[in-house]
Amino acid sequence: MIPTGRFAPSPTGPLHFGSLVAAVGSWLFARHAGGRWLVRMEDLDTPRIVPGSADEILAALRRYGLEWDGEVAFQSRRIPLYEAALDELRQKGAVFDCACSRAELARAASAPAAGDPVDAERVYPGRCRNGLPSGRAARAVRFRAPAGVITFDDMVVGRIEEDVAQRTGDFVVKRADGVFAYQLAVVVDDAEQGVTEVVRGGDLLLSTARQIALQRALGKPTPRYGHLPLIVAPDGSKLGKRDGALPLPALDDVRVAETLASALRLLGIDVAPSSAAAMLEEALRQFDARRIPKGERVVFPQAP
Ligand code: GLU
Repeated sequence: MIPTGRFAPSPTGPLHFGSLVAAVGSWLFARHAGGRWLVRMEDLDTPRIVPGSADEILAALRRYGLEWDGEVAFQSRRIPLYEAALDELRQKGAVFDCACSRAELARAASAPAAGDPVDAERVYPGRCRNGLPSGRAARAVRFRAPAGVITFDDMVVGRIEEDVAQRTGDFVVKRADGVFAYQLAVVVDDAEQGVTEVVRGGDLLLSTARQIALQRALGKPTPRYGHLPLIVAPDGSKLGKRDGALPLPALDDVRVAETLASALRLLGIDVAPSSAAAMLEEALRQFDARRIPKGERVVFPQAP
């Protein structure tokens, strides 16, 4: 099987510094293995999509010298695949309809998952697990969290063990607004596109066990995972849309080289600014996954 990596941005604004690190990191892993590197636009969450930002992200990737293989995939054009996967889960009894609103769940007030600073999801109390309460209509569709610990060896962070039932409980695979949830779409796409290595931002480390649980329920292979250091704003908060967002017109050669050098430094690679292509070539020579900082939250460097 050809090693295949991917970069899967959500087109909710220009490429920000955190996404650039994910793009460069996933590109390096894939190309270093002599493999393919795909780009997939995760544009299912229509309320959050910003028109024009998919094109802007693609143009920025080109400016940084990151060339992808094949056509860019758009999740919004792949909905029948997610429908088929949901049908399969239904037939297997692995999902159920849920009537609970957010407000009801908040009132049920289960504690937030311990030690989970980035994942706002709370433990689902299991109310609709055995059928909808009488008189209530279905809103979302939830996946039955399997009992037991899921273990995987992250290529950057090392061994991770997580009990999905305890941390999040039954989680949403189709939202009340009819949008397929990220967790389901990502699992379907990674399998369908033949992705063997998922390298992405550290904020998604806590989604991985849920994705593995879904892969198992759907009989799909589990790719290898690598989670890059999480880039946070100087006050420790998650990078917002504007932090480090580099609008295309500002991406002159000097800015591209300096920003690329900063992104590479966060991946343990020291390259002097020159053309993007030459920097990436040198980065490939130096690349060593063991030099990537493990799971640390790296404060976003001020824009060069
Ligand atoms: N679309 C997600 C994001 O932009 C990334 C998904 C993934 O890499 O699995 O945060």
